[in-house]
Order: sequence, then structure tokens, then C-alpha cells
Amino acid sequence: MDIQIPMKKIKLLNPAHPNKSTGIINGRSSGLLNWNDIAYPQMYDLYQTLLSNFWKAQEINMQDDIKQWDSLTETEQDVFLRINTQLASLDSLQTPTMSQVADYVTDSSFKAIFAVISQQEAVHNESYSYILSSLVPLSEQNARFDQAKNDPVVQKRNALILEAYEAFRQHPSASNLFRLGVNSVNLEGIYFYAGFAFFYHLARQQKMLKTSTMISYIQRDEMQHAFLVSQFIRILLTENPELNTDENLQYIYDSVHEAVELEKEWAGIILKDIQGIDLDEFGLYVEYLANKRLRQLGLGNLYEERDNPMPWIHVFSDEMINETKSDFFEQKSRTYTKVTQSNGFDEL
Ligand code: ZN
Ligand code: ZN
Repeated sequence: MDIQIPMKKIKLLNPAHPNKSTGIINGRSSGLLNWNDIAYPQMYDLYQTLLSNFWKAQEINMQDDIKQWDSLTETEQDVFLRINTQLASLDSLQTPTMSQVADYVTDSSFKAIFAVISQQEAVHNESYSYILSSLVPLSEQNARFDQAKNDPVVQKRNALILEAYEAFRQHPSASNLFRLGVNSVNLEGIYFYAGFAFFYHLARQQKMLKTSTMISYIQRDEMQHAFLVSQFIRILLTENPELNTDENLQYIYDSVHEAVELEKEWAGIILKDIQGIDLDEFGLYVEYLANKRLRQLGLGNLYEERDNPMPWIHVFSDEMINETKSDFFEQKSRTYTKVTQSNGFDEL
């Protein structure tokens, strides 16, 4: 397979092909999904976990936060609104991207999983609007969304992700799908956290607890998504050794490193006037997260190994992620020699 050759959208139904796909991309697959006959049976558990996390914004009554809103300082309100719309912008990208990926994978179980992820991104996006609509008028909401669109630091921070997503949109190849996956892990596993830190910091002071409840649900989803996409990447590399090159592994390290730097830079701007969040400590937290993402990808740490320096951000322990203990890479380890011996699952 030439990893640069454009992938075609596959036909909906190919009756001559087996239901159990022969490959995650460019595979032979009938298009029918029988969950009892899939190439990676562990994906059914992960799919179940996604479903069991289901929630929606309207289940959370915003009355307490509405009452508290006026007691926030002007700075807190400003940062609250900026972060809210900026996170909504990230989720706006994620909804169509995940459904687009579903068009190109040839494993029906992954199509279903990407569809559920896409749906959850839509809920996240809505939850930010729900929070906004309970706190400020529409004119203010619109101004804040424009602010998120036009902020040069936000634009710079998102450029890396957007470039990879657009490249796949314009030229859907195996190589570009790999890069999209890596950037998706960065978006879901690193980019949200300066924002999450702010809401949890308010919650530590018993402020805006309904908002932070919603944020914690979003965090739980994002952790699960980042985990799923990292497993998708591992399977992609395992099944397609042409992709499992030193250059691509270096691409993972480089883009994770760049995402970490951009997130630190963003935190330095958005959180600088918030008392009680130590930015150096946050920088270490982002590095801690990056190591975790790399291990989920089956790679080694990029940064010094450390315990979580900001345990109060850790509302949902990673152990809550439905870990796939049995190693479905074992049988294919021959083609996956470039990663570390540890499969990473024990380190989530
Ligand atoms: Zn999301
Ligand atoms: Zn997500």
C-alpha cells in the first residue's frame, strides 16, 4: 500500500466481502456490522463504555451557578467565558472530523465507535452553549464566540490540529489519517486541560459547581476518546507496517511536544490573572498528560516521569477507563516492533 495514495470512500454494501473486516483501512468488509464477529472483539467493551457514559446537558440544573455568577470577579467571568467558547470551538471541529473518519475506515465496528464519538462531541458543544445561555445574553455569547475565532493565540494553538484535519479532508490517505489521529489525541488529551483546570479551580472554591460537573463529564468522555483514538493508531500502525516508520514515530513525539508547548503558552495567557493556579505546576501537569498519551500509544515517555502534580484536576481517575487488559497486539507484535515492550494499558 502506498500510504500517500488517496483512499476512496468505500461502498456502503459489499455483499461479496466478509462481515468481519480484513483491515481497519483498505480492508475487505461487507459493510454489515455484527458485533459478535469483529476483528477486535475488545472494541465492543470500549463501545459499551462510551454508551454507558451517556449524559446530556439538560440533566444538570444550572440554578446554583446562575445565582453565583454575579459573585465571580470580573476577571473570573471574563476567563470563564473565553474558555467556554474556546473549548466549544475545539468540540465544533471534532464532531465533523470524527464522522468523516468513519467514512474511510473499513471496519464496521470502528465506524460505529466513531459515530458515537461524533455524537458525544455534539453534546459537548451543546453543553457549552447551555452554560452560556444560562449566564449571559445572546449578544454576549456571540461576541465571545467571535473572540474565540479571532484570538491570534488560539488560532496559533489550533493551527497544528487544523492543518492535519484539513490535510485529511483534502487528501484522505493512510498517512494523513495517521496524522489526523495523532492530532486528535493531542486535541482531546492535551488541549482541553488549561480550560478544565480553570473550572476545577473554581470548583475547589465551591464556585460554579454545576459547570464543573458538566466539565467533569466532558473530561471523562475526552479521556475515553483519546484512549480509543490512540488504540486506533496502534492498530493502524500494526496492520500497515509501511506506516510504522521511524519518521512517523518521530512525528508523534514532535507533535505531542508542540502541543505541550502550545498548551503551556495558552495557559500562560488565559490563566495568568487567576490566583491559585501555579503555571509552572500546570506546565508539569501538561507534561505528565503527554507522557500518559504517549504510553497509550505504546511509546515511551517524552518527559521526566512524575506523579500527577495537580491531583485536583483528576476528577475521574484514569482507571475508570475501560481498559482492554487482554493484549490484542500480542499476535501482531512482529509488525509492531518499534514501540516499547509494555503495551501501555497498565499505565493508563
Ligand atoms: Zn468533546
Ligand atoms: Zn472527544
